[in-house]
Amino acid sequence: MTEQTDQNSADYQAVMPTYGRIDLAFVRGEGSYLFTEAGQVYLDCATGIAVNALGHGHPALLAALHEQTDLLWHTSNLYRIPQQEKLAGRLARAAGLEQVFFCNSGAEANEAAVKMARRFHYRQQQPERVEILCAGGAFHGRTLAMLAATDRPAFREGFGPMPGGFAHVPFGNLNALRAALGPQTAAIMLEPVQGEGGAIAAPPGYLEGVAEAAREFGTLLIADEVQTGMGRTGYLFAFQAAGIQPDLVVLAKGLGGGFPVGAVIARAEIGEAMGPGSHGSTFGGNPLATAVANALMSEVEKEPFLKQVRARSAQLHDGLDRLAERYPDLVAGRRGMGLLAGLQLADSLPVAELNNRLRARQVLCVPAAENVLRMLPPLTISEEEINQLLSLLGTCLADGPKED
Ligand SMILES: *Cc1c(COP(=O)(O)O)cnc(C)c1O
Repeated sequence: MTEQTDQNSADYQAVMPTYGRIDLAFVRGEGSYLFTEAGQVYLDCATGIAVNALGHGHPALLAALHEQTDLLWHTSNLYRIPQQEKLAGRLARAAGLEQVFFCNSGAEANEAAVKMARRFHYRQQQPERVEILCAGGAFHGRTLAMLAATDRPAFREGFGPMPGGFAHVPFGNLNALRAALGPQTAAIMLEPVQGEGGAIAAPPGYLEGVAEAAREFGTLLIADEVQTGMGRTGYLFAFQAAGIQPDLVVLAKGLGGGFPVGAVIARAEIGEAMGPGSHGSTFGGNPLATAVANALMSEVEKEPFLKQVRARSAQLHDGLDRLAERYPDLVAGRRGMGLLAGLQLADSLPVAELNNRLRARQVLCVPAAENVLRMLPPLTISEEEINQLLSLLGTCLADGPKED
C-alpha cells in the first residue's frame, strides 16, 4: 500500500493544485462507508460527486469487473465490442432513443452532444443552426467548449478566448428562453436539476415548456444528465419525471459506478448524421467500462431499486425540511430532487464551515454554488444511514452560526 505523506512532501506538491485537496485519504470502501488507513469510518454522502451510485465495493460491480479484467481490457472501436453493443441497446431503449456514443467523462460527452446537434442541422440543410442555448448557473464541464457553455466568470478566468456559439438565459424562465430561440438555435442544453449550480430542480412545468418550445422552434433538446442520470433522482433519467422526450441525453458520473465512462444517447436521425470518422474516442466504451456499466444498469433496473431511491429521498427531504424549520436562522431552505439534495444555508453559516463540521463528525458532503450543502449519498443508502446523516447534520447545525 502507498503511504500517505504530509502536505509539505515533494510528492504532494507534484499534483497540480487544480483542486483544494482535503488532507484525508481513504484506503477502502464498503457500501455507504469509507475507511482511512487508521481505521476511521466516514459516511459517504458525496460519492465522489455522484459517481459511486451503488456505494463502494458493490458485489455485482466487483464481479463484472473481475470477470472482465481476466478476459480482456481494451480492444478498440475499430472492432465490435459486444458489451458496448448490449449497453447501447439498453440505454437507448430506456431513454426512448436509438443510438449511443461512448466516451469517458461528462465534459467529453457534452462536447459530443454539441457536435451532434450542429452536424444534424448541417445535414438537414440548416447550417446556420449552430447556437447552443444554455442556462445561467449551469455546469457542463471544464473543456474549452464546455466552459463556454458554463456561464461562470470564475471558471473562465485567464482561459479566453471562449469558443463561440453559446448563449445563456436564466434557468427556470420560459419567457426568456422563448425570446432567445431563433433560426440560429441548434439546441437547448439543460440539466433537469442543476447540480454544481446549487441542487436546483427545474420549477414545475419548466421542462415541459422547454420541450414544447424546442419542438415549435425546430431545435434539439439536450438533457445533461451527467449528475442526475442512472437513478439519482428516483427515476432512471430525471427527464422522465417531467414526462418529456429529449433528443439527446448525456450521461457520465454514475454510469460506471466509479469506472470512468460517459455516453450520449441520441435519436436515430442525429446518430445517422454522424458517419464514420465524424467523431471518436480511443477509450470510449471499452470492454472494462461497459461490462461494469451493464452490471450497474442491471441493479438499477431491478424492482424495487428506484422505488427504494424514492423512499430514501422522501425520508431525506422530510428530514431536511424539519432541520430547516428548526434552524431558520441557519437554513434558508431545502433544495434538489431525489438523492441530489441540498440545504441552502444563511449567510451566517458558510457551507465550507458546515462541511468542515460534518467531516469532523465523519460525514462527507459536497458544497455547491449559492452556499448550498449538497448531499449525494449512494442510491443504495439505507433508512438507518439516512437517519445517521440527518442526526449528525442536526448536531452540526446545533453548533450555531460560524463564529468570527
Ligand atoms: C460533473 C458534471 C459534468 C462534467 O463531468 P466531468 O466528468 O467532470 O467532465 C457535466 N455536467 C454535469 C451536469 C455535471 O454534474
